[in-house]
Amino acid sequence: MANSGMKYDAVIIGAGISGMYQLYRLKNLGLSVKVFEAGSDVGGTWYWNRYPGCRFDSESYSYCYSFSEEVLDEWSWSEHFSAQPETLKYLQYVAEKFDLKKDIQFNTRIASASFDVNSCKWTTISVDGTAVTSDFLITAIGALSSPYIPDFCGRESFKGDSWHTSQWPKRDIDLSDKKVGVIGTGATAVQLITEIAKDIGNLTVFQLKPEYCVPLGNRPIDENTQRDIKKNYASYFEKCKNTWGSFLHGFDERSALEVSPEEREELFEKLWAEPGFALWLANFHDIFSNREANDLVSDFVRKKIKEQIDDPVLAEKLCPTDHGFGLRRVPMESGYYKVYGQDNVTLVDLNETPIEKITETGIKTRAESFDFDLIIYATGFDAVTGAFKHIDISGEGGQKLKDKWVDGPSTYLGLTSTGFPNLFTLVGPHNAATFCNIPRCIEQNVEWVTDCIKYLKDNKFIKISAKLSSEKSWTEHVYDSVADSLILETDSWFVGANIPGKKRTFLQYAGGNPLYREKCDEEASGGYKGFLLER
Ligand code: NAP
Repeated sequence: MANSGMKYDAVIIGAGISGMYQLYRLKNLGLSVKVFEAGSDVGGTWYWNRYPGCRFDSESYSYCYSFSEEVLDEWSWSEHFSAQPETLKYLQYVAEKFDLKKDIQFNTRIASASFDVNSCKWTTISVDGTAVTSDFLITAIGALSSPYIPDFCGRESFKGDSWHTSQWPKRDIDLSDKKVGVIGTGATAVQLITEIAKDIGNLTVFQLKPEYCVPLGNRPIDENTQRDIKKNYASYFEKCKNTWGSFLHGFDERSALEVSPEEREELFEKLWAEPGFALWLANFHDIFSNREANDLVSDFVRKKIKEQIDDPVLAEKLCPTDHGFGLRRVPMESGYYKVYGQDNVTLVDLNETPIEKITETGIKTRAESFDFDLIIYATGFDAVTGAFKHIDISGEGGQKLKDKWVDGPSTYLGLTSTGFPNLFTLVGPHNAATFCNIPRCIEQNVEWVTDCIKYLKDNKFIKISAKLSSEKSWTEHVYDSVADSLILETDSWFVGANIPGKKRTFLQYAGGNPLYREKCDEEASGGYKGFLLER
């Protein structure tokens, strides 16, 4: 290991939306900060996920940073739901504007970080073996950044091209005469399939579980709307502050069962016609907790899906029946179901004919062999805790974070973990940011961490460590927050069920962002009594 001799107040791992903002805030405090980023540019999720069709599922003007009036004024989104290239440009513009890049070391993957109890400092070591030390370590490594590819027999033998959606090459890819296989039909695949089907030789989609996809309703932003958006930013952000998921959509406080069938249908129809996540997040609140309420909305969406598909057998295959609407992440679609009406597109139902192996030339299912030029794995991520497994983080007494969390995360506020002093985990497990219109919660996370570090510095504390009792009660509160929810019994990445061998446990926080914010604010205004502070 080469110790670079470099010492910082804070080291941040990751230069996505959270890492960039954390850098900005800590620099404004006058601290020395270094960011390490594996990619060659800023952007995080929006740097890596450059697959065709990738775009926001949240309204652009609710997803962007809110901290700078100048940025809000200068930047004009071209569409209600921005596409990835525009979002990446936006993040590059923010990085340039605040001169962030000079403190970011790109193309640098972090291998390990360890806390030394004597010096009370973190040593962070990159894959190339260079070490730096810092008072604070902040992970900004994202909740969906550790790609998952199933361990299909023969995967390495395939002679064509293949990649995971989050590892899409930077070069132009012409698929107009190519035979392409896509495995997976989650939110990523739905965007990707719709886009590549527009100009492709031949496309075969391998589906395990179909999803309930809802129309995105994207459209360009005209000049008048642009003016209105800029005028209304403050009210958008205020609205997001008060909704459960920090989206522009807030739940209907009525039960789906207390209204007449006509009223219910009217609301479902209205929300279906609205852009974005309205049907999911402005619906009757009990669709998540009451099976009968959930069945009603699930039936409604299945009916809507079937209306879009001429072939009834195909329509049946594309309709979920094993889980209810909204209990997994709802994919937003812009012509997805129509794709299956194309002559050059085939859907393979893996429940009928499972994949046996990947061959040199393609994919062999129990019934048939398919030849491909390209196989795309749209197979998701080892979510929330996955990225933490790739960095060997050790705390007091050499305890490893990945060992501590092997049976599920335990944290205080989803931002700290007992035994790992001076470590902050932005968008970490059991943090409301994982169930959120993420930049809204990122800003809250970053501002909380910044205030905490300022408090420590101002009061000459050199060490902050979550009390075990705080961690225990937070972890109980997290599980209580989801106890009544049907989400717990549904297989998805929310509970780690998408990764073979991963302990099934709730990874997020379901108490809603207003309550989360309140709990974080109480901790700060009370003088951080849930922590041990040392001088
Ligand atoms: P995902 O939702 O986990 O979907 C993965 C897909 O791969 C599923 O259809 C899954 O089927 C399939 N799969 C997994 N293992 C398989 C196997 N062994 N054989 C065949 N199929 C297999 O992942 P994702 O689509 O990448 O989305 C992940 C998350 O990213 C989303 O939930 C969302 O939060 C985020 N995202 C956001 C946006 C946006 O905001 N614009 C866009 C895209 C994604 P089963 O489900 O049946 O296991």
